[in-house]
Amino acid sequence: MKPPPFEYVVPDTLEEALEILAERRSEAKPLAGGQSLVPTMNFRLSEPGLLVDLRRIENLAGIRGTEDGGLEIGAMTLQADAERSPLVAERTPLLAEALPWVAHAQIRNRGTVGGSLAHADPAAELPAVALALGARVETCRAGGRSRWIDAETLWPGMFATAIEPEELLTRIRFPPAAPGSGFAFRELARRSGDFALVGVAAVVRLDEDGRCGMARITLLSVADRPLVANEGAKVLIGRIPTPAVIVEAARAVAARDVDPPSDIHASAAYRRHLCQTLTRRALTAAFDRGGDRPGHAGPRWRAGGW
Ligand SMILES: Cc1cc2nc3c(=O)[nH]c(=O)nc-3n(C[C@H](O)[C@H](O)[C@H](O)COP(=O)(O)OP(=O)(O)OC[C@H]3O[C@@H](n4cnc5c(N)ncnc54)[C@H](O)[C@@H]3O)c2cc1C
Repeated sequence: MKPPPFEYVVPDTLEEALEILAERRSEAKPLAGGQSLVPTMNFRLSEPGLLVDLRRIENLAGIRGTEDGGLEIGAMTLQADAERSPLVAERTPLLAEALPWVAHAQIRNRGTVGGSLAHADPAAELPAVALALGARVETCRAGGRSRWIDAETLWPGMFATAIEPEELLTRIRFPPAAPGSGFAFRELARRSGDFALVGVAAVVRLDEDGRCGMARITLLSVADRPLVANEGAKVLIGRIPTPAVIVEAARAVAARDVDPPSDIHASAAYRRHLCQTLTRRALTAAFDRGGDRPGHAGPRWRAGGW
């Protein structure tokens, strides 16, 4: 199918784009990589009267470290550029680990980091990662007004965001990783490049005594938005993350945190099973990578291999 007729503009500056969005707010839509928007237009699931192409706007793309040791990514940064960035690998290794799971290389060559967050697909990897890492996004509107939105409140529902129609997402900020923290991303898709049946992001921190001081587990493809698994995390806090404790946490996620849907891709029961298995794997890897200081309990108690 082809999209319905639409107008198309390519503004040169951010202010120009924001003014167009303010004037035509009910019918205009920003166009980033077009990898989600164009297919939805072709299927007539979205019928914007005007596309505002963001590709010429300077400074909307780019990756830079922040002074506090965190990372900032411009909304129009290509997913492929983030995937290959040494700075992303160093400062937000969870994001680096998740990016190759996003679609296919060809799509990541066009798709943007900001476009993925703004599209708000509950099966997308990057929102779950942003949520796990406590990221914030900046939005701007005409007149130089901007605000920051926490990932926690960015996605109120299926394909919905807290971004107003006259606003643009301009950059994403990831806080620095706490010392002793470990991370991991795991997902299962039927074929390489397909959307995940379930995905899990885990961020943990080991204290000096080898106990879990912080745990954050997020899941994708199990709800109408990325989900934070608080019950699973509670099982871990203050405990030495032995294999048995990790299994207990993974069971809590599957039993109490999620209520996954059945669809043509997988039954709810299978998704629940995946939630447990992938959470166990993600937590095991995250704890292995955490607490990289003398006295760290992780690798020692797993020396026999598990
Ligand atoms: C075959 C296929 C497989 C895919 N598989 C996956 C997958 O496994 N995992 C995954 O996460 N994604 C997948 N995708 C989606 C892909 O990652 C998209 O690139 C991404 O979701 C959207 O990024 P984009 O830059 O292409 O945004 P666009 O398609 O241009 O825009 C998406 C939406 O966000 C809005 N938007 C874009 N930028 C901004 C901004 N700066 N401010 C405000 N609103 C904005 C647009 O108006 C639109 O509503 C797949 C896509 C295809 C075609």
